[in-house]
Amino acid sequence: MLKRLEIAGFKSFARKTVLDFSSAATAIVGPNGSGKSNVAEAFRFALGEQSMKSMRGKRSEDLIWAGSNSMARSNRAAVAIVFDNKKRIFPKIDFDEVTIERAVFRDGQSEYAINGTKVRLRDVQELLSAANIGETGHHIISQGEADRILLANPRERRAMLEDALGLKIFEFKKQEAERKLERTEENVAQVEALRREIAPHIRFLKKQVERLERAEELMRELATACQTYFAIEDLYLVEEKKKAEKAKVVASERLAQVTAELVAFDERNTNDVEGMKHAEGIRSAERELERVMQERAALSRELGRIEGALDGAKKRSVQVARDPYVKVSRDDLSALMDEVSKQTELPDTAAVEAVRAALTSLKGIVTAFFSRFASPSDDYLAEEENTVFTLENEKASLAGKDTELEQQIDAARVKLTKAREASMAYDETSREQRHRVLAMAETKAHEESAVTREEARIHELSMLTEELTREKAEAMALGGAAALSYVPLTELPQEDRKTQEDRKRQVERLKIRVEEVGGGGEEVRTEYQDAVAREEFLARELEDLATSAVGLRELIKELDTELQKTFSEGLAKVNASFTEFFALMFGGGNAKLVLEDITMPEEEDEEYVPDEESKLKRARAGIEISVGLPKKRVQSLMQLSGGERALTSIALIFAMSQVNPPPFLILDETDAALDEANSRRYGDMIEELAKKSQLIVISHNRETMSRAGILYGVTMGADGVSKLLSVKFEEAVTVAK
Ligand code: ATP
Repeated sequence: MLKRLEIAGFKSFARKTVLDFSSAATAIVGPNGSGKSNVAEAFRFALGEQSMKSMRGKRSEDLIWAGSNSMARSNRAAVAIVFDNKKRIFPKIDFDEVTIERAVFRDGQSEYAINGTKVRLRDVQELLSAANIGETGHHIISQGEADRILLANPRERRAMLEDALGLKIFEFKKQEAERKLERTEENVAQVEALRREIAPHIRFLKKQVERLERAEELMRELATACQTYFAIEDLYLVEEKKKAEKAKVVASERLAQVTAELVAFDERNTNDVEGMKHAEGIRSAERELERVMQERAALSRELGRIEGALDGAKKRSVQVARDPYVKVSRDDLSALMDEVSKQTELPDTAAVEAVRAALTSLKGIVTAFFSRFASPSDDYLAEEENTVFTLENEKASLAGKDTELEQQIDAARVKLTKAREASMAYDETSREQRHRVLAMAETKAHEESAVTREEARIHELSMLTEELTREKAEAMALGGAAALSYVPLTELPQEDRKTQEDRKRQVERLKIRVEEVGGGGEEVRTEYQDAVAREEFLARELEDLATSAVGLRELIKELDTELQKTFSEGLAKVNASFTEFFALMFGGGNAKLVLEDITMPEEEDEEYVPDEESKLKRARAGIEISVGLPKKRVQSLMQLSGGERALTSIALIFAMSQVNPPPFLILDETDAALDEANSRRYGDMIEELAKKSQLIVISHNRETMSRAGILYGVTMGADGVSKLLSVKFEEAVTVAK
């Protein structure tokens, strides 16, 4: 199993030195002080020995080549042990070779490596214990330490025995389990503390989340309420506005119309040409009538005067007429008149001659008349008759005029009556119109107020629209975008406006409640979920920890049982071998290992039940050695001779290594105190042991050397450096001396 030992800079081995162990037993020989024990110590060192004392040093520096006159000191001591792992004596390492290396530096720093990978000391120890190479060094018996096990106290002895029995691996496992258990319990405490710590936080977050959910519920409610409310309100406002605008247009049109009508009427009213015409007509008819009447009155008066004058003239003419001449003349004239009248009815050409004849006759009469009436008395008559004639003519003329005037008066009257009638008719018309104007004014006022009302309504609606926009913004802020995601309506529901007002109130109420509850933010939920997840994780972890704690406790218990069992069995086996080897060495007698008597006084009591502590004490009881030499009554180890002591300890060491053979056993001059006979027996045992463990014996003993397959000679020159060489048996005997 042991293949090689490589030493460099360690103690006297300044140069790299390699020892091959291809034989079951290897002997290292050489003069005193050449460095043989340093080889054994190199093993100890590489296997992780922590005691400087057992390597004969005070400080780590003492392990490093200190230098000599001819060779400078080293800064590093390194030793590597190479094992054959084909049989997987190190089950954890899947390589055919396992190299365990340790180096130490002048600052005291140690480095360990397994197959070139840096590891901790503990890793080395665990690896070795698995291969039954314990740390108590029962497989390396240093010079003069053969009886170490005899000198050790019971507890140290037990440790050595446990080590030899390969219980260290159980111990390690147990310690590891205990450490794990301790860590697990610490973790449990930590996790529990954490859980206690986060519990109020979770409660707080839970409340927050519930609040958030309540808020969200309210927000959803608000959004739903808003959707209906806004959809209706949007359409309502649009339709109302349309209605109002339409009504306004209608009212405005009517107003314009009635206003135009009124203006037209006013114009007619202020320039009443027709009325004036009527008045003027009446007035002119009246004036005409008056004029004609006055004229007639004047005519009447003139007629009266003429009648009066005619009366006087007539009276006077009667007297004149009585004059005969006047009478003749009149008769002539009358006859002439008739003649003229006759002539005028004749045809035109004849008439001219006849008229000329009549006129000639008339000229004669008139000339005769004037020659007759050349005297005043004649004139007078003529004058009087002339006057009556004239007056008669005048009277006839006036009478004709009067008739004419009478006709004119009648006509004027008719005209006036007509004018009056026309005026009256006109007046009737304008009264009707006045009524209409009043009605129109009323209409105008009505339409004006209608226009004003509709304008006010339009304004109100635009205010409401603005307010709705604000409401929407608020709803969006409080209820989220959902509050505004609704399908626009095309038709208003058949319902009372009050219903919509109720909706508005409901929306406002919900807004207030959403505000009251408040958000808190989405992150609360994630925080809560995280916290719950963490709490669940911790709970699971606690469960896992509890499970692993149970497992570990079980494991520890199992390991304890195993330990106890293996120990008892091992002890029995060691004892069997021990007595055998002892008898072999001493030619009889007996020896055995006994557990310390730690019987508790209470145990005498039948009802005694040992407590945990005393159980533990019993389990850890130390080991005593009892020997019985043949033919001697020696009880105490102290009473044995040096050689006897050496034999006893060798017997024990061999017995121990038989039960659980270590891969190798190093015996540094264990045979020093033996006489020839015992040296032979020792040699026999070495051969026996070499069947199970590789043996490396450092010896000056010829008998021992003779049993080794390989012999190494160690020498030290003037330079203080140990040198190694393979030697033949005869050379070895020489070298050793
Ligand atoms: P013996 O047969 O007397 O037991 P040995 O062959 O076992 O002797 P060791 O005890 O192995 O000899 O070697 C001791 C030698 O090693 C001494 O000469 C000592 O000076 C030398 N030595 C020990 N430590 C160092 C060191 N750090 N540097 C150099 N030499 C050292």
